[in-house]
Amino acid sequence: MSQVVAAISKDKIIEMKSFYSTYLTNTPQGAIFRAKTPNAVITAYHSGKVLFQGSNPEAEAGKWPESSNKKSSYKKTQRLNNSYAPPESLFGSNHIGTDEAGTGDYFGPITVAGVFIKKEQIHSLKTMGVKDSKNLTDSVIRKLAPEIVKLNLPYSSLVLPNEKYNRLQEKGWTQGKMKAMLHHHVIKNIFGNIDTTQLDGILIDQFCEPHVFQRHISSEKESILEKTYFMTKAESYSIAVAAASIIARSRFLSEMDLLSDKLGIVLPKGASKKVDQTIAKVILEKGESTLDGCAKTHFANTRKAQAYIK
Ligand code: MG
Repeated sequence: MSQVVAAISKDKIIEMKSFYSTYLTNTPQGAIFRAKTPNAVITAYHSGKVLFQGSNPEAEAGKWPESSNKKSSYKKTQRLNNSYAPPESLFGSNHIGTDEAGTGDYFGPITVAGVFIKKEQIHSLKTMGVKDSKNLTDSVIRKLAPEIVKLNLPYSSLVLPNEKYNRLQEKGWTQGKMKAMLHHHVIKNIFGNIDTTQLDGILIDQFCEPHVFQRHISSEKESILEKTYFMTKAESYSIAVAAASIIARSRFLSEMDLLSDKLGIVLPKGASKKVDQTIAKVILEKGESTLDGCAKTHFANTRKAQAYIK
C-alpha cells in the first residue's frame, strides 16, 4: 500500500466530496469526508490535507492537480499547451464571466450565472467590493448581488430545479454535463443582449477539462462559442467571474429560502451530518418523495439519513 499527501483548497475539497459522493464512507474525526474507491481510500481533513492511500493512490490524486491553497500570480506559462487558457489581457477587457453555485449542496438547485463587463466598469465593481464569493459571507452576497444587478450589466442566471436535476441524473447525466449545459445557455442568453463585436472573450470558471466540456455540450448538438476560455479559480482574476459567482450564490440562497419556506423546515447548506439529520426530519414529517423537489437525491446523504430514522 502506498500513499500520496496533497494540500487542497477547501472549495476543491467540497467539490471532491460531491465527486466521490457514491464512494463516501464513515468520516473520521477531524476529516471533512472519507471515500473508498477501487484505487484508494481518500481522506480530506479540515486542515486542507488530503491523504490518498491504497493500491493506486496516484490515480485518484492525479484527478486533483490543483494542489495548493496559495493563490499564485497568473503566468503566461499557463497558456503553454493550453489554447483554452485566457490571455492575461482578458481580465482587463470586455468579457463575459460565468460561475455556478449549489453543486456540492445536498439541498437546493444548481444555479449558474454569467455577467458581461466592459473594461471601464471594472474599477467601480472592485470599489463596490465585488470579489470571489467564497471569500464573502452570505449576508454580504445577499446585499451585493442586487447592487450588481442595478448596474444594468447584461447578465443571465439559470436555476436547475431539483426535480429536473434528479430526472437528468437518472438519465445518466453527470453533474458536469448539467453544469456545462447551464453555463452554455447562460452565455447564449447574454449573447442575445449584447453587441458581440465588443466582446473580447468569455471566461468560464473551470469545473472540468475543456475537451470534456466540449464533449458534454456537443452531445446536445451545441458547440463552444468562439473566444471561450477556461481557468480554475477564475474568480480571483476576473471581476466578471467574481460578479457571476456572487449572482449565482445569491440566487442559490434565495432558492434555498423559498424551499425552506415551502417545507416549513430550514434546509441547511452543504452536505454535512446536519444535512443528514434534516433529511430524516423531511422524510418523517413530509414523506420521502418530498426530497425529489428539494434535494440532489443521489448524494450519499439520502442513505446516511436512514441512521436518524427510528
Ligand atoms: Mg466555480
